[in-house]
Amino acid sequence: MRRRRRVLYIVLWILTIAVVAVVGLRLLTPRAVAPARVADPAAAKAAGEAVLASHDATTLIVVAHPDDIEWWAGGTAALLAQRGRVVLVVGTSGERGDGGLVPGLGAVRERLQREGGAVLGYSEVIFLQHPDGGLGQATAFPSEVASAIAAARPARIITFDVAKEAAGYHHVDHEAAGRVTAAAAEAVGGVELLLMHTSAPDTIIDYASVKDEKARAFAILTSYHDLTPVVGPLSNWFGSLVGGRTITYGSKASYPEVGIEYGEVFRRVVIPAK
Ligand SMILES: [Zn+2]
Repeated sequence: MRRRRRVLYIVLWILTIAVVAVVGLRLLTPRAVAPARVADPAAAKAAGEAVLASHDATTLIVVAHPDDIEWWAGGTAALLAQRGRVVLVVGTSGERGDGGLVPGLGAVRERLQREGGAVLGYSEVIFLQHPDGGLGQATAFPSEVASAIAAARPARIITFDVAKEAAGYHHVDHEAAGRVTAAAAEAVGGVELLLMHTSAPDTIIDYASVKDEKARAFAILTSYHDLTPVVGPLSNWFGSLVGGRTITYGSKASYPEVGIEYGEVFRRVVIPAK
């Protein structure tokens, strides 16, 4: 009798913890990963339309890991790929993505990045293969970014916003990618920066016309979670419980007051020509 009661207590405890965890994460997660709000949606919408009005221009994207751009700005990348060349530079291969539990994960994530990139229409994907977690210490990284800019001669560059990084999720590699890329753009001049993961967005890109492509690419890029035994399937299941649309689409900002349901936000900085 006593033993049965103890089992009952344990089961009740597990159920309580599970309910609290799911409800808590459901409430907190969308807020933690939600993009910051723009101050003037009408002006930000017009700014986004101006970005998409340019054709035949090359866009260079510099990120730290496979899936970074697809999470924050996969829709924008797809729209720009319809209008010109998109060249993606990935600083590391994200081999520690699942805590180093999967041997050879870097090669897998490179393959997924190419597959997802093909869905979104990238012209070129360049892997610099620096250690995951050590991009800031990679001494060759700044000159590699400068070379990529010299080779692509982009009209605009997309990377992380370091000056006004948004709260919620920080990563040393993201900081390194944003810092190095902004400095390289500053040195060259004559380029527009679209900075993602920002706390001060002023530009909204409406990606409704490519939302399915973004979701498909994002699913490909994040499918490496399935490779991790037990933890992978569990985190996928948990993600589907707490994330809903966030997990399906990555970063998504809705502004119904200006008719945008699927938006990606940026801080836009124009660096004058030298
Ligand atoms: Zn990342």
